[in-house]
Order: sequence, then C-alpha cells, then structure tokens
Amino acid sequence: MVSKVLSSLAVNRDRLSTMIHQLAQLGKLPNGGVQRLAFSPEDCHARALVRRWMVEAGMTVRLDEAGNLIGRYPGRFEAAPPLVTGSHIDTVPNAGHYDGTYGVLAGIESVRTLSERKLYLDHPIEVIVFADEERTMIGCKAMAGRLLNDPKLYSSRSQEPVETCLERVGGDWDIIDHARRTPESMAAFVELHVEQGPMLTTLNKQIGIVTGIVGQRRYWITVEGQSSHAGTTPMSMRQDALVAASQIVLAVNQIGQRPGDQVATVGRLELSPNVPNSIPGKVEMSLDLRDLSSDRLDQLLSDIHQAIDSIAAETDTQISMTQRLHNEPSPANSHIQNAIAQVCDDLKLTHCSLPSRASHDAQEIAHITDMGMIFVPSEGGISHAETEYTSPEDCANGATVLLQTLMRLDRHYHCPS
Ligand SMILES: [Zn+2]
Repeated sequence: MVSKVLSSLAVNRDRLSTMIHQLAQLGKLPNGGVQRLAFSPEDCHARALVRRWMVEAGMTVRLDEAGNLIGRYPGRFEAAPPLVTGSHIDTVPNAGHYDGTYGVLAGIESVRTLSERKLYLDHPIEVIVFADEERTMIGCKAMAGRLLNDPKLYSSRSQEPVETCLERVGGDWDIIDHARRTPESMAAFVELHVEQGPMLTTLNKQIGIVTGIVGQRRYWITVEGQSSHAGTTPMSMRQDALVAASQIVLAVNQIGQRPGDQVATVGRLELSPNVPNSIPGKVEMSLDLRDLSSDRLDQLLSDIHQAIDSIAAETDTQISMTQRLHNEPSPANSHIQNAIAQVCDDLKLTHCSLPSRASHDAQEIAHITDMGMIFVPSEGGISHAETEYTSPEDCANGATVLLQTLMRLDRHYHCPS
C-alpha cells in the first residue's frame, strides 16, 4: 500500500475539537459540565448525532440487541474481520466532556481522515458506542458474552427496567445474546481514552500505552462490637466497632502503600447507632483493591485477612468479609502495545507504559479479541467532574496515534484472501 502517504496521515484537530464541543451541548449543565446518563433523553439525542457523524464519515451504521451503536467503514477485503475501536458516550452524573466521548469521536475522525482521501485499509474498521459503560457495562458485556441472566442487575440509575431502557435505544433484552461477538468476528480492539489520572502529566508524556486494565476485588466488611453508653462504659470494657474499623482503614492503607502498583481503599463506612452518646456497636465498610496481577491481589487480600484477624482479637470484635466484586485483570496484547509505541516514535510523541486502574469497555472486549488501549493526558488528573480537560493538541495526537495504530495492525493481521 502507499505507505508514505499513510505514515503522514493525521486527523483534523479542529474538526475533532468541534465534535467534542458539539456533543458536550447535549446534557450540558449550568456549571459547564455534562450529564448524559445512559438511556436518558440526552443519551438518545447524543446517539442520534453520533450516528449522523458516522454516516458523514462514510460508515454504515447498525444497532445491536444490547444497544451498541456500530459504525462500519468498508475494507478492501470485506470478508476480513474488522479492526475495532470505540468507547462510550454515556456519562456519570456531573461529568466532563472527554471520558468515553473522546474515544468514540476520535474513532469517527480517524475514519473520516481515511474516507475523505478515499483510502481503505485491508480490514474494515468498526467504531462502536458501547451502551451504558458508566453503570452496568451492559453493552460491552453482552458483546463479550459475559452478561448475567438477571435483568434486575442492569436496570438504570433511576431503577427503570433494562427491558424499557434497551427498547428506547433500539435494543432488545429478550434476544440480547444475539449481540455476542465471536473471536473470529474481530481482528483486534483498540480503545482510546483520556487517562483520568495524573501519571502522564506528572511524567510529562504525551501518550500512555496501557499495559492492561487492573483486576478489582471489592468486599463489604462488617465489624460487630457492642453498643453501650458512652458515659458509663469504662474504657477497658468496650467493644468499640469504630475503633476496630479505624485500625482496618489504616491497615488497608499501609498494605496499599507497599512498593508495587496496587491501590487499596476504604471508601465507604456506615456505623450504628451513629449518635454522640453511644459506643458504635456495628460498622459496615467497603474495601476496594486493584492490581494488574491476579496473584498479587490474592496475596494482598490474604495479608488484609491476617491484619483483620489480629485487629478483631485486639479489639474484642467480630469481623467478617463478604465479596462484592471480583474482576480479573485484562492484560493488553503485547503486539498492540508495541505497535502503539512504534507509532509514537514515528510521530515523535513522548510515551510511557502504565496500567489502567479504571474500568473500560476494553476490559470486556479483551475476552474475545486482542486488546490495546491508548491514553492521552487528563489535565490535573481530574475526571468524572466538570473540570475534566484534555487540550485539542493532545486530543488530536491521540486520535492520530489511534489511526496510525489501526493502519499498523492492518498489516499485522492477515486477511483471508
Ligand atoms: Zn470512560
């Protein structure tokens, strides 16, 4: 193929910025942020606009049974499985302009950069808007064949049944398993996303090459002591559940601070009776652990168990742990990581490798195909807030890296001839 033309291809920065700005008008908040909850009217408007942009970029668009919006740009070998990119356009409450949205729009802009020059890769390209990434991940899970059977697990934030939500965007819960994709139906998946953390700006790098999406273990810890009068119970005779819980918070933090890439957090605490003149008799608290290695997570958990046992003995309390979430790590494909690095070197963009500690659609799609992720800097590391910001320059850099990576992968994955 005309490799010289291709290696100098770059996306249109202003066109990408304009799309990001225009999409941010749908669900715009008075403070400048965006709120576009999955399946809300704002989400539906945004889907319609994105669908229009996909068509304008030369794609045919379909919707699958899980409400995923799929744009497809033809390849020279139409029988070849597509190279796939995409992300989500739904947001958390009080969000910014970039999380998810950026990856989708950069995918569309990448295709447009090809189509306006009438260039085609060997493989078709798909750009996917995954349904409800921020809450249930129903779109990517359905595509990966990893949905659970219980519809109640996928109801909306406002407790609207999933059947109604899907119907509104053109999906269908009853036949949602039709959205499942086989490994043969994709050549590879690359998601471009804002980092949502401070590492790239701290290290002063333009592009992050994701080594994998961390595994996550979440537990609910219950500490039971004895509630009694705060005035009349001597200090030596107390079974104070909050004192035990406080020690757990510190132990979890210490374990998280050990050398390594893990993070460990107690983010939620509920105590009862929660009044000034009673000793807390019961505390329920969360534990969230993340790391790229499953063995490491198991080791950290066993250390936390040990710490909790000795805290229980010391404070004369009973402590139990119930698992709430168990996500295995999703390693990124090493060939895709290398391809991204080579593209960055060619484009003279500084880069570093880092894990993703947030969830992404890519973690599910990694179950069915080779997966890679590209990060661009988030100013101040801020995300899920109206101040979330990535400069037009960084947005364009990331999109060009995405485009060039897809072109490299096009040569790597052979087409059936
Ligand atoms: Zn996201």
